[in-house]
Amino acid sequence: PSSFKLFGIRIDNLRMAQAVDLICADAAPRVGPVRRPCNVVNFINVNSINLAYRNRSFRHTLNRANCTLADGSGVRLGARSMQVQLKDNINGTDLMPILCAQMVAQKRSLYLFGSAPGVALKAAVALQANHPGLIIAGVQHGHLTDLDNDQIVEAINAAQADVLLVALGSPIQEDWVMANRLRLKVGTAIAVGGLFDFLSG
Ligand code: UDP
Repeated sequence: PSSFKLFGIRIDNLRMAQAVDLICADAAPRVGPVRRPCNVVNFINVNSINLAYRNRSFRHTLNRANCTLADGSGVRLGARSMQVQLKDNINGTDLMPILCAQMVAQKRSLYLFGSAPGVALKAAVALQANHPGLIIAGVQHGHLTDLDNDQIVEAINAAQADVLLVALGSPIQEDWVMANRLRLKVGTAIAVGGLFDFLSG
């Protein structure tokens, strides 16, 4: 089967290339009035399974995503116990180079939202160094106390980004995307956890 349930969470069993195609296929920004929510892609690892097991609302949020990718050997083992062989281990670090290459080829743009001040910009610079021609539509840090959510959404929409990466940690990032998906004019929003820290470090 292409999807299965683990501890009440629907997981999509995709190959890496299928995941990247799915993210890019719907990535064109929507012009005019927003009529449909953006695509929502999450990664599930042992940590988020733990959170979702104890937090019903987070589990519900995860199950409303368009696509949930299996990240890590813990999920692989869990899947195996359900007689499911995962086609790939799809984590953000491995997905990024393949996604960026495809985005360069398709001239699509990326927006980085989240992490401590300065980190998203460093991550963007690192991505552009590895992927010449990659279009970064904008960056925004995620330490939100002094920031207005409407302004953040408006800035992302004004930048006309195709793909939005949200790095606020679980469950905040998944909840934030789900809460704002009707207003976001990006094609796809992906919750990426500590990815910017990794890329910038
Ligand atoms: N973060 C943020 N705003 C918050 C809380 C966290 O931008 O209100 C960032 C934090 O700086 C870090 C990321 O979210 O870059 C969370 O990384 P972590 O590895 O803890 O996430 P996980 O993958 O465990 O969900």
